[in-house]
Formats: sequence, structure tokens, C-alpha cells
Amino acid sequence: MNVSDILKKAIIINKKKSKKLHTRTKFKKIGIMGGTFNPIHYGHLATAEAVRNRYDLDQIIFMPSGNPPHKSKAEIIDKEHRYNMTMIATMSNIYFETSDIEIKREGMTYTIDTLCELKKIHKNSQIFFITGADALCDIDSWKYLDKNFELATFVGATRPGIESNEVNQKIDQLKQKYRANILNIYVPSLDISSTDLRERIKKTESIKYLLPENVEKYIYKNNLYR
Ligand code: ATP
Ligand code: MG
Repeated sequence: MNVSDILKKAIIINKKKSKKLHTRTKFKKIGIMGGTFNPIHYGHLATAEAVRNRYDLDQIIFMPSGNPPHKSKAEIIDKEHRYNMTMIATMSNIYFETSDIEIKREGMTYTIDTLCELKKIHKNSQIFFITGADALCDIDSWKYLDKNFELATFVGATRPGIESNEVNQKIDQLKQKYRANILNIYVPSLDISSTDLRERIKKTESIKYLLPENVEKYIYKNNLYR
């Protein structure tokens, strides 16, 4: 299948999965995997799947961010491409869907706005917000952090390069300061980052087996990160 057919298929499947979640009225446990996804890779997917499995979540919503306040703009490619790659990457998992609510929003992307929006859409639900250990350690800079903790249960996932001691200390501190509900999960370590992938592409090094094959095809077809 060529890349534009893969994308068309991904869009149709994503719509179906999202509709299914929206029409369900019984109590739901929803995981949110936020990120720039520049590009999405197996570290993101494996983390989301581990959390879904462990906490028996009904769905994981991947949420590509529009204009993230903590990242340098120069490195971030167009949000439409990041959204398309995320849809393609999540296509084969019935529990994964991709949302466009952050890329559609004007201005900076703040998680608090997303959580408020999701709480309105999915009234009868518990929201699990998934963060890798690096993101959790940097969480103090988030807007209205206390409110974030009121609206969601946070799940801190291990990530290579971040010591578990550091993460545990951070979790204890956040629990004390905000009475935050934070869970901690071990994920089989995948030392993959979008930064490293972008560098490999620039140097024309292989990125095979680090991200889904169809995402790799999409990147080459659209000449991204060169
Ligand atoms: P970049 O290098 O551009 O920062 P990234 O690989 O860190 O990209 P992000 O989009 O910044 O990816 O990350 C989104 C979320 O996924 C964050 O919570 C991050 O901690 C988590 N994450 C990313 N890669 C991994 C990984 N290999 N293992 C576990 N968690 C990860
Ligand atoms: Mg990152």
C-alpha cells in the first residue's frame, strides 16, 4: 500500500475508534498519552500499551501537542504531519486513538486546557495522564499544576537515562505538595527518542525497527527532518 492510501485508511479507522469511545456511556478509564511526537516511536507506543494493560484502561488517546511551551520551535515540524504520523502509528491497536484537540487549539498548548476539555466530553470517566520519567521530573513548570492533579491520575513511566531514585523522590515530593495521585510503572526500556531519530534521519542513518514501518515510509515520502 502506498503512503497516501495508508493515511486514508488510518483516518477512517481513527474516526471509527473515536466514535466508539464517545458513544459509550458507562464509566470509562481513559489514558492520555501526550507528546510532541516529532516523530512518534516505539518508546511512546510501548509505554502507552504497558499502562493500558496494567490499569485495564478502555482506551488510550494519543494527543499530539499543537504549540508546546517547553520546546524549541525550530525543531518541531508541522502539526499536521505529527498528527498524521500518530494516526498511522496507532492504527493497528484497537485501544489506541489519536485526537486533534490540541493541534486545533490556538496559542500555546497547556495540558490543563486539554484535561478540562476531556472532562467535559467524557463526563463519566477517570483520566490517567501518562508521562515518561523525564517529563515527570520537569512537571513543576506546568501551568496550574495543582489543578492538573485534581483532574487526572498521573502515571509516571520509567525511561532509560532517568534514575528510579530521582523519579521516586519526585513522586513523593509531588504527592506531599499537591496531594497528587501518581502511579509508577516499569516499562521494558527502549532507549529511543525523537531527538535521536531526527539526528539519524539528517545523517541518512537507518531508523528501521525504532518506529513503525508505515511512519518511516511517511517520513521519507514527505521528506521530513532532512
Ligand atoms: P524529543 O526527543 O523530541 O523530546 P521524545 O522522544 O522525548 O522527543 P516526546 O514527544 O517529548 O518524545 O515525549 C512524549 C512523552 O513520551 C513524554 O512523557 C516522554 O517522557 C515519553 N517518552 C518518550 N520516549 C519514551 C521512551 N523511550 N520510554 C518511555 N517514555 C518515553
Ligand atoms: Mg521529550
